[in-house]
Amino acid sequence: MAHPKHIQRTTELLGQLPGIGPRQALRLSYVLAEKNIIWRKELAQLLESFDAQLSRCELCFRVMEQRGSSYCDICSSPSRAKDSILVVEKESDVEQFETYQQFQGTYHVTGGTISPLEKNPGEKLRLRALFERVKTYPARSTMEVIIATSNTLEGNQTAAYIERILQPLQIKITRLGRGLSTGAEIEYADPLTLEQALKNRK
Ligand SMILES: [Zn+2]
Repeated sequence: MAHPKHIQRTTELLGQLPGIGPRQALRLSYVLAEKNIIWRKELAQLLESFDAQLSRCELCFRVMEQRGSSYCDICSSPSRAKDSILVVEKESDVEQFETYQQFQGTYHVTGGTISPLEKNPGEKLRLRALFERVKTYPARSTMEVIIATSNTLEGNQTAAYIERILQPLQIKITRLGRGLSTGAEIEYADPLTLEQALKNRK
C-alpha cells in the first residue's frame, strides 16, 4: 500500500529517532495526521524555535534555555565540585543522576557512543572540549573524570577511547563500578544501582 508523500517523509524522519522502528514511525505519522491543526501548529512552532531558544552549555554540552549565560545551572552553581566530571552519553543520564541526587560534581555529555569504524570519534564525543576543560583547570591534580558510559559493547569501547584521550593529562580517571549489569543503560537503572555504581567506581 502506498502512503501519501507527507506521511512517507514524516515516517522517514521519525524513524531516525532512537527506539522508533519503521512500523512505529508509520503509526506515529498517522497519529499526527489525526491530531487537530492547533496541536500540530504548536508542535511545529516549538520545533522551529529550538535553534533560537535553546543553546548548549559551553562546559558540559547540556541543552539549556538561552538566557544570556554560556553555562547551565549545574556548571554555574557554586556548590557543585568543578574538579569532578561525570562523563555520560546523553541528557537523560544526567537526569537520572540529578533526580536521585547521587552526584555533586559536574557533567560532560558526549552525545552518543562510537563504533570502531568511526571516522572522527573525538569530534563526535566533544572530546576536544573535554580535554581543554581538564587541561585548563587550575588545580588539575585534584581532578577526577568518572566515565559513565553504558555497560554495552559500544559504551565500553567509548570509555576506553575517552580514557586514552585524557591519559596524557595525568588526572584520576575512573569508571562506574559493575553495579550496572551487562547491557544495562544508566537511563533505566534504579537509584540503588546508580549509587552502588558510583561508589564502586575504579
Ligand atoms: Zn553545563
